[in-house]
Amino acid sequence: MAEICRDIDEWIEEEVSRPIEEWEERQEERCREEECNWWMLCLNKLFCWLVTVLVKVARWIVVTVGRWVTRTVCTIIAIVVDLVVALATGLWDVVVGIFTWDRERVWDGFVTVLGGALVAVLGLLRVGLLLDTVDFVREEIQESRLRDHVRGLLARRFARDPEALAAARRATGVDHGAFGLRLLGRATRTFVRSDRTRPDGGVPELVRWHEDPALDIDVRVLAGYDSEGFWRHGRPEVVGADEGQVDAYLRDRGGRSFRIYPMSEGTLRHKTSVCAERSRELGLIYQFVLDEREVTDPAHVVLTTGQDDYDIDVLGRVNERVDPVGAREDLPTPHAGTVFAYAGTLIGLSAHLDDATGVDGTPFPGSFTSGVSVRDRVPDLVYEYVLAHELGHYFGLTHVDGYHRIMYTANPDAGTAPVTWWTLPSLILVEQQPKFVLDEAKAVWDYIVAGFPTEALTTRAH
Ligand SMILES: [Zn+2]
Repeated sequence: MAEICRDIDEWIEEEVSRPIEEWEERQEERCREEECNWWMLCLNKLFCWLVTVLVKVARWIVVTVGRWVTRTVCTIIAIVVDLVVALATGLWDVVVGIFTWDRERVWDGFVTVLGGALVAVLGLLRVGLLLDTVDFVREEIQESRLRDHVRGLLARRFARDPEALAAARRATGVDHGAFGLRLLGRATRTFVRSDRTRPDGGVPELVRWHEDPALDIDVRVLAGYDSEGFWRHGRPEVVGADEGQVDAYLRDRGGRSFRIYPMSEGTLRHKTSVCAERSRELGLIYQFVLDEREVTDPAHVVLTTGQDDYDIDVLGRVNERVDPVGAREDLPTPHAGTVFAYAGTLIGLSAHLDDATGVDGTPFPGSFTSGVSVRDRVPDLVYEYVLAHELGHYFGLTHVDGYHRIMYTANPDAGTAPVTWWTLPSLILVEQQPKFVLDEAKAVWDYIVAGFPTEALTTRAH
């Protein structure tokens, strides 16, 4: 829903504001060149300027008020729609959970209903107290500062190539219209197959992995019938079998054909859409393409290798040590894949190609591939940002303090503080969801303008 609001807003900027802004620019040019008619005391020139200024002011007021009204109406509709969806799906989970004796599902249902109601009440309060309007103004100011930053970066990168500079300014919309780097993202839903055997046949690989005590793979856990722990479960999807058939398959050591995915397509789409929405604060305009790939190495089912091996073997990303040019050409297409779990308590992992520096000055050395992986965890209220977080790392962002920031991590190894003075006011009233900040947006653009191939900066990917 938030995505539709964003699309309308972008449409106003691109289709209404941009043409007028371009007309203003041409008009200013004309006014500058217009000959001064001495017999009119130069009034013709003055008149020309006057018209331009009036159009500018009128355009600014109409577009800003128009965007504010659309945003407010859209926000209210989105709150109501989200509430209805949360109540319907939550109650459904509770009812089905009770009838199937699935206590995790009952709990998830309760969390969805209560969380949905709380989010709706706080959301309406936020609009009523005009805090959404304050946020709108804040976002506008931040975006204008980010545009200035990006203008500077592009001017430096293309200092000796005015044509590329003009193309880059047009492609990013840094001067007019909707600003942002249009990025094509890929999201791969991995799966395991029950009937894949070694070339010489015999017992299926999935059964072997399940029976191998050295591997941390339990097919009933992969399928979501059991979980590693009550608090640590996701929503895997089994296609082609039910619980009884999966059990029979394990007992008979084969004989059935099904697939298990770490998450459904709907779940992955939800994550990409949250990522696209939140990443707008970084000045990135994502469009995600989804695909599916079979995983044939047990180390990529419960991810025990590093992200680089996963990138190369599962996502098909280029290894910089083998092909430096190819690895760089991967950069403009951020790629995420799913896993069932990680060794340990991780919920996501990333690899970024170039050395970066965190907003607090910490060095963040690059790797030899680029790409990220995520697992599913519920509730969405807490874990839906994981993909946005990992793709933040993809552009060199590092961890920060406070639950109100997308780049926060609860991983104890990172040593980050869960709460700062701004965390509660931000999450309860002002923003009501974790965000990226301006400094992070600037750092992402530093990373992009320094490392992306020219083509990716001077043309629009979508
Ligand atoms: Zn992280």
